[in-house]
Amino acid sequence: MSIVVYLGDDAETRDWIALLERLLPEFEIRDFDDPGDRAAVEYAVVWAPPAGGIARFPNLKAVVSIGAGVDHVLRDPDLPRHLPILRTTGPDMVQRLREYVALHVLAHHRDLAVTDAFQARAHWQQIVTPVAGKRRVGIMGMGQIARACARTLVSLGFDTAGWSRSGTSAEGVTPYAGPDGLPEFLARSEILVCLLPLTPETRDILNAAIFARLPKGARLINAGRGGHLVEADLLEALDSGHLAGATLDVFRTEPLPTDHPFWRHPSIRVTPHVASYIDPATGASVVAANIRSFQRTGTCEAVADPKRGY
Ligand code: NDP
Repeated sequence: MSIVVYLGDDAETRDWIALLERLLPEFEIRDFDDPGDRAAVEYAVVWAPPAGGIARFPNLKAVVSIGAGVDHVLRDPDLPRHLPILRTTGPDMVQRLREYVALHVLAHHRDLAVTDAFQARAHWQQIVTPVAGKRRVGIMGMGQIARACARTLVSLGFDTAGWSRSGTSAEGVTPYAGPDGLPEFLARSEILVCLLPLTPETRDILNAAIFARLPKGARLINAGRGGHLVEADLLEALDSGHLAGATLDVFRTEPLPTDHPFWRHPSIRVTPHVASYIDPATGASVVAANIRSFQRTGTCEAVADPKRGY
């Protein structure tokens, strides 16, 4: 029995193969593009596999996503739909996202971009911002990672709300659920943080209609996926002055093309999909534990629901 690995980068793939060989000695670990006997492959451990790639393995038991999202697997039109997909998260991934969200919420809260612009002109002007308790932050998505970020914002004193399908929440976070809860959630969100999974329901969700419901001067942080954002609608909302700033980590096209207007927009901060990352050593041990659990019981906590898309 064997496992194939695909990361789209030869050196990274080799690292993961070496780690999984040590952690799962009962399996042969192979490169996705050099799989040997395809019928022997039971698991495909992947990030953004090529279309049609997974379907080449007739006896797969599950696909393992090297990441919390599974959209990069589900986008394959030839993906065998019966296959379970296992997500991978780890403490380092959650911690990095907590740092990212705290950093950029605080930067917007304290108007850091304005202070930077003043410094560039040697201009001394104090900006007094409200204390965190008077700043309303809204997080779209209340999954495992998002709840940890919400708790961090609560601990910093922010007035924090979370929006999800079911009204899932975390201690100290005001819950809002589904389409009915969305207008009120948006109306109170001075800083909107998107941590949704990309699904058919959430694609293009950050659009003009949503921005119009945010308070004037609101800010956006998108660390979900690029497919959540209608880019032209964001530019329009910023240029009209309705939104005051945006921090974007994820993009429809990655790497973001050098001539893309986001790079040079004065109200946009671009980060190159670095909000979080799984260290290969930590990630491989989570993947190995999930595969072992799946081998034993036919399921595990990390299984995503392909119908929901997350
Ligand atoms: P989960 O998959 O654990 O949970 C998803 C959350 O989104 C749930 O709260 C769910 O609601 C909610 N949701 C899903 N669809 C809808 C919808 N249509 N309307 C309202 N709410 C919805 O998420 P995680 O917190 O683990 O991760 C979230 C996402 O963060 C990932 O899918 C990925 O896109 C992104 N991410 C980005 C990274 C980066 O580096 N930029 C790194 C890691 C993750 P309910 O609770 O009711 O099910």
